[in-house]
Amino acid sequence: MPSHRTVYELNAPSPALVDAALSGSRREVFWLQDSAPAPRFGPLVGQATADLTVVGGGYAGLWTAVRAKRRNPAARVVLLEGQQIGWAASGRNGGFCEASLTHGAANGRNRWPDELDELDRLGLANLDGFAADVAELGLDCQFERPGMLTVAVEAHQLDWAKAGPGYLTQDQVRAEIDSPLFLAGNWDRGGALVHPARLAHELARAAAELGVEIHEHSQVTEIGHARSGPVAVRTARGSVRSDTVALATNVFPTLLRRARLFTVPIYDYVLMTEPLSGAQQDAVGWRNRQGLSDMANQFHYLRLTADHRILFGGYDAIYHYGRQVKESYEDRPASYRRLAEHFFAMFPQLEGVRFSHRWAGAIDACTQFCAFYGLARRGRVAYTAGFTGLGVGAARFAADVMLDLLAGEPTERTALSMVRRKPVPFPPEPVASAGIQFARWSLDRADHREGHRNPLMRTLDRLGLGFDS
Ligand SMILES: Cc1cc2nc3c(=O)[nH]c(=O)nc-3n(C[C@H](O)[C@H](O)[C@H](O)COP(=O)(O)OP(=O)(O)OC[C@H]3O[C@@H](n4cnc5c(N)ncnc54)[C@H](O)[C@@H]3O)c2cc1C
Repeated sequence: MPSHRTVYELNAPSPALVDAALSGSRREVFWLQDSAPAPRFGPLVGQATADLTVVGGGYAGLWTAVRAKRRNPAARVVLLEGQQIGWAASGRNGGFCEASLTHGAANGRNRWPDELDELDRLGLANLDGFAADVAELGLDCQFERPGMLTVAVEAHQLDWAKAGPGYLTQDQVRAEIDSPLFLAGNWDRGGALVHPARLAHELARAAAELGVEIHEHSQVTEIGHARSGPVAVRTARGSVRSDTVALATNVFPTLLRRARLFTVPIYDYVLMTEPLSGAQQDAVGWRNRQGLSDMANQFHYLRLTADHRILFGGYDAIYHYGRQVKESYEDRPASYRRLAEHFFAMFPQLEGVRFSHRWAGAIDACTQFCAFYGLARRGRVAYTAGFTGLGVGAARFAADVMLDLLAGEPTERTALSMVRRKPVPFPPEPVASAGIQFARWSLDRADHREGHRNPLMRTLDRLGLGFDS
């Protein structure tokens, strides 16, 4: 199979154009700036008691606190966040809020074919419940439900576009969003978009109004090991004696030894343009405001903001040896440059548009590409992580699963194999690094060879260990 150049490489803009477009950009998260001032909460100082202590102030933790109070308004719920609410993945993601709980139908079909109908039903119910909660709690987070449009940009992707009911021909897809690269598309009308940081901050506001006691700058250092009674949750300046604990710490070092090999941090990079002028908007169309992604193994995702900017992210997904989350990994000029090149290859009519912001974030990748769950400490501590880049909608479902597990009552959620079984752990270093780099190299090669995956990738796919971002 001869290697070929991708459409992004064939249509690369001039280096001068890319330099000019990036020159004024700041390395800051647009969403967090656009959500200021956020509600702020003081640190935990001294001793407290609780029915439930939630660790982590991203979506998974915030939904757990909110849903716990909605199940039982009298419950004493404390939420501890090590830094600030929503500063991490939840404040800096693309805002694609999808129904899928399995990181897409194909992954669900491969891993849990017997459960797929049930998973689809629960995923749609979760997204409908998400919309209902946004309305009932008055969450001002720019929730909109324009659906997701996936586009074929290479000939070998055309058959993928035709699978499923939302197929659009080249003319139809270009009438929606105009790019000379788009060959066909598939419009799934279910998905939603949110303003990521506002969602996190609004969930915190709603949680506080429901009576949740929130503390920022309260890094949990230890979960106690007592043989009976409540669990001690310790921070530098205080502790909570809690009947139950929900850990929603995502990509950060887990507080449970048993969960430490299930995830690795993969860095994902994002650009945001300045607001488009009326003429620039006319040149692209996009009146229906869909979330958009292409069908490559290494895919791009893009969407509009309320003030008509374009967010353009994805493609590069970078793992750094040693599994660490580090601010310095967010500064990767080559990834931002590549994104800018691909942006202008996709939208040459937007020549002259400049980027205002660039940022990155760590994704908690696990080998099953979607969240896993568990109980520890005599069933009093529940945990979840592993959303692998699709956690905006799924975090709300994960919150319900953790509360079900802690309640000890079987539900349709806790009966799922997806919930009961753990993913295959990543090996320790240096094997993890070598394996992940090889998998990424293979995906890149597949994108340069009409989608063909090499024998190792096919073997990993068969074993359910195929790699994705
Ligand atoms: C660039 C990027 C783009 C993405 N785009 C999308 C998208 O478009 N759609 C989608 O569905 N998903 C997307 N994702 C993934 C999505 O953002 C995450 O799956 C989701 O936000 C995870 O929420 P969380 O609450 O589990 O984690 P986080 O938001 O990371 O929150 C975890 C919190 O726990 C805190 N914490 C950790 N350890 C401790 C401790 N010991 N004590 C106290 N606090 C602690 C951290 O400080 C952090 O605030 C993207 C992710 C990134 C990085």
